[in-house]
Amino acid sequence: MHRTYALSAYTRQNFGQRVQKIPLDAGFSCPNRDGSISRHGCIFCPPNGSGSGLRERGLNIAEQWQFWFDIHNTNNNLNLFTAYLQSYSNTHGPIEKLIRVMGRLKGLPGLTSLSLGTRPDCLDDEKLDLLAAQRDELGLSEVVLELGLQSACDETLTHINRGHNAQSFAEATRAADRRGIKVVGHIIAGLATPSGREGLAELLASVDFINQLPMHGVKFHNLYVCHGTALARLYADGQYVPLTQLEFLTQLSEAIMHLNPTTIVHRLNGNPLKDELIAPDWAANMRAMHNAIRSHFKANDIWQGKKNGAESGPPDWFSPDYKGDIP
Ligand code: SF4
Repeated sequence: MHRTYALSAYTRQNFGQRVQKIPLDAGFSCPNRDGSISRHGCIFCPPNGSGSGLRERGLNIAEQWQFWFDIHNTNNNLNLFTAYLQSYSNTHGPIEKLIRVMGRLKGLPGLTSLSLGTRPDCLDDEKLDLLAAQRDELGLSEVVLELGLQSACDETLTHINRGHNAQSFAEATRAADRRGIKVVGHIIAGLATPSGREGLAELLASVDFINQLPMHGVKFHNLYVCHGTALARLYADGQYVPLTQLEFLTQLSEAIMHLNPTTIVHRLNGNPLKDELIAPDWAANMRAMHNAIRSHFKANDIWQGKKNGAESGPPDWFSPDYKGDIP
């Protein structure tokens, strides 16, 4: 039984096979780190900003692509790939840089789609038009923006030093959607707040917020504490206590039941690097987390949209083999 509309089902339905993401580091920075907004970053963000490390080893975009392409093509016989510009904020800075980076994607073997991680305040009409044009320029099936909402509560966003508010996320999502760019929003459970931590009510408010937007997909994360972050100092001082695994599973279950059943679920939990994680311990093992989520959903009969339009059972389109239209 398929309990969510998973990315794997969407790709099978739309591409006939798995589409592998290749992480690329094009050397962008983040306005929340380079001083444009702040030099401190979001309180949970480790200093490397989720980089793959290949750029630090001197590999340019084509070489990074080839590194991952060879692994996936040889070992897993995959031939469709997404260029995933993941590190930092990949539309930050002058548009000329974005134009140069787009040019470097041309002709990469197996390139099928483009996905960029960025911030809503790093997108203007010119950059959105440029990205939308890449469907034709690069012959792509789709262009996707991964935007962090994290929380719909502006007080929380201020506390985590996010540097933008929820309205900014909504406006960027609508502007992207008007151009046919798909948006995947990120939401974090258990965010630090001035009084301690967000609870279920705040998480559901964030889900309700994205349910009202033209949202293609969502990534859920659990907040974890990494070395070198402001959150690590709060944790050390006892001012932040991470969710227990059971608290996270309970909150995630409610969030999934409230999520629009047509929104594609790209991720259900965060995935810290082992050497960057301080706490909680349970966040370290990705496979164990996947099993825990699967078991919890099954034991409690959880499915996406159970409390939001899919009350009678998981819709047919949760199956990778579904061939019909999605309402
Ligand atoms: S916007 Fe992203 S890269 Fe920038 S500080 Fe926040 S989490 Fe880190």
